[in-house]
Order: sequence, then structure tokens, then C-alpha cells
Amino acid sequence: MIATAGVAAYGAAYPRSQIFGPTICRTNSPKKLALTFDDGPNPAITPNLLDLMGRYEAKATFFLIGRFVRECPDLVKETVARGHSLGNHTYTHPNLAWLAPARIAEELCVCQETIADVVGTAPKWFRPPYGFRNPWVVPAAAALDCQTVMWTLIPGDWREKPAEWLIERMNPIAVHARKKLPPGTGYGGGLLGDILCLHDGGHRGLNADRTRTLAALEHWLPRWRDLGLEFVTMDEAVR
Ligand SMILES: [Zn+2]
Repeated sequence: MIATAGVAAYGAAYPRSQIFGPTICRTNSPKKLALTFDDGPNPAITPNLLDLMGRYEAKATFFLIGRFVRECPDLVKETVARGHSLGNHTYTHPNLAWLAPARIAEELCVCQETIADVVGTAPKWFRPPYGFRNPWVVPAAAALDCQTVMWTLIPGDWREKPAEWLIERMNPIAVHARKKLPPGTGYGGGLLGDILCLHDGGHRGLNADRTRTLAALEHWLPRWRDLGLEFVTMDEAVR
């Protein structure tokens, strides 16, 4: 019993666990860094983030909460117009691990339809709230032709810490980029790149303060670029 519960908890929470279905956890090249932003759109932050990304010609993937899409459709259209990809992050951001299959399907479907209504096409990517899965979550995404995307690094930018703390927590990306590991050794086999999970919104409501996320990106984007990293959408990350 205890061993089974332990395995289930590991599968539900550990980002690179595959026991509840296949997920994408890395890009296909050490040169490709996939920046991903959860819990938007957020009118207080996303416009500034789009401008910042534009300065570095950086493309990203935005995992959107459907009920916020409903409130900020123009911001979502602008995100697509600037060349970014969209992902499904459920309609209300529940912990899916506790929900029955029908409720899981509903959360994903309503978000999918809301995004499709606004931008004309449905997302191809899905990320579960909190990263929590159970045996029905990945198949529910697959039923909507969405691949489930996790991450290699989640620095915790929702925490009330100074920007300097967040900048330090994002240092592993640069460490990986500097290492020229031979194939089959070390991090990601030395052949694969990072997926970074950040937040431009907060799931409790619109206008969450994510200015420290912006500050950390102001610090890192030019440094990552100088290390030879390309900032890619999930589409490009797996191509
Ligand atoms: Zn989230």
C-alpha cells in the first residue's frame, strides 16, 4: 500500500515521470531553450513581457488559463501575432490529480474551445496545473490532440523572494549551456536542451505581480543569447 502510494505521488508530481503517460520534458537540442509561461494572460505583466521578448527576438510558449483568456482576448491575439505559441493550462486551474475523468476532460475541453474561439486555432500543447497528473490527465490531453509538456527547471518565480534570488535559481540554464558534454553523459545526455517553466500570471486572479520574473529575464536573456542559446516555441523545440 505504502509503496503504491509512493509511486503514485511520484508519478503525480515529479516533472519527468512518465508513469501516467508520455510527456515532453526537454527540447531536442542543447542549443534550444524553450521558455514557457504559465497562468496568463495577465494584463499587468504579459504586455511588458511581450515587449521584452521582442527586444531579443525570443519566442516562447504561453500556457493559458481559459477563464483569463475569456477576460483578455485581445492580449491573447497579440501574443499570437508576435509569433508565440499557446498552450492549454485548463479552464479554472484545479489540481487535476483529485478530479474524476469527466471533470478532467471538461476542464481541458472548455479551455481548448475558449482559446480556439479567440485565435481561430486550438493549442497543440497542454500543461497540467501544478504539474499534477493521474492516469486520466495525459490521455485527456491526447484526446484533444495536445501533447503534455513538463519542464527541466521550475525556479519558483511565484515565491515572494527578491529578483536576485530568482536570478540565482535560474543559473542552471547557463551552467548547462556552458557544458560541452559528450553524448550519453551528464545532464540530459548532453544532447538535449532545457524547458524553463516561469509564470506571467497567477492562477488566483488577474493582475498578479510578476515583476521579478521580468527582472530575472532582463538579466538572463542577453546572457543566454551570448552563450549561443536560441529561444524557441514548443513547436520548434521538438522539430
Ligand atoms: Zn499554473
